[in-house]
Amino acid sequence: MTTVAAYAAPAAKAPLERTTIERRAVGESDVLIDIKFAGICHSDIHQAREGWGTAMFPMVPGHEIAGVVSEVGSAVTGFKVGDRVGVGCMVDSCRTCDNCLAGLQQYCTGGGPVWTYNAVGKDGERTYGGYAEKIVVDAGYVVRIPDGLALDVAAPLLCAGITTYSPLKHWNAGPGKKVAVVGLGGLGHMGVKIAHALGAEVTVLSQSLRKKDDGLRLGADDYRATSDPTTFEELKGTFDIILNTVSAPLDFAAYLSLLRTDGAMVNVGIPEEPVRILLSSFFGHRRSVSSSGIGGIPETQEMLDFCAEHGLGAEIELISADRINEAYDRVVSSDVRYRFVIDTATI
Ligand SMILES: [Zn+2]
Ligand SMILES: [Zn+2]
Repeated sequence: MTTVAAYAAPAAKAPLERTTIERRAVGESDVLIDIKFAGICHSDIHQAREGWGTAMFPMVPGHEIAGVVSEVGSAVTGFKVGDRVGVGCMVDSCRTCDNCLAGLQQYCTGGGPVWTYNAVGKDGERTYGGYAEKIVVDAGYVVRIPDGLALDVAAPLLCAGITTYSPLKHWNAGPGKKVAVVGLGGLGHMGVKIAHALGAEVTVLSQSLRKKDDGLRLGADDYRATSDPTTFEELKGTFDIILNTVSAPLDFAAYLSLLRTDGAMVNVGIPEEPVRILLSSFFGHRRSVSSSGIGGIPETQEMLDFCAEHGLGAEIELISADRINEAYDRVVSSDVRYRFVIDTATI
């Protein structure tokens, strides 16, 4: 066991504060990672504030982890001391169900994945996330960060990157396809970069035109305000894919009308409340409404390699750990361009 410094929420809705946690001894298939940077994902806030239901406290959030391997277990062959690595939303799964065997560990049907924090591992111990100095993770749930990617801008790719890459790939974003990204936040800005790099024609649908210059710079071909009703008239029947990154409820009928026949609206922002959708808004054109959760370990590695090849990192605001609570409030009010990343040397 190793005692490491961390930032934790002691109770639901309580401010995060500096504390210490225990990390398990490095097992034969584990790696010890010196965490360098940890992104702040909106889902950290949903969980720390119990927006998604009862959570476990104290909670050390953080599932956008980038760091350097400092020790490896005796059976680890894929990593060595000094390797640049990342850890995302999960640190284990059953490894034997069809989905795990297919590399879709995020959809593990053998009890579900073990989430990086706010969960209990197979050893019965609580998991604690990336707002900490170090983490011990089974090597099968660690990915390599290519040399071309700086660790600070790579950290958010471990959740925001894969959460947008996986559905864009699954629904075949690419040349000749029109993709709308709803919301230009932490997820949305990566959705724009990745969809553009995949060769799709990209439109941002945002409440206002406030971030239009950013959106076009990040790779969007068009940028429309959803507060303007003419947007919905002009873009009717346009898109093959709508990637919705907004976690507030939307007027689904209005957005579904923007899809072409057989188009899909994929939701990766998860509202805290149930949503209402009229079936009549999509049966007419065989449209579909779907959702997608992060991506498996092989696809997460593929995403990192793709991002390195195309020079895609997240747009970040680097903060010291004592600014986490302030950052949470700013994420909730959409006041970040586009991801806060904690310099864990300041914990
Ligand atoms: Zn996340
Ligand atoms: Zn499984």
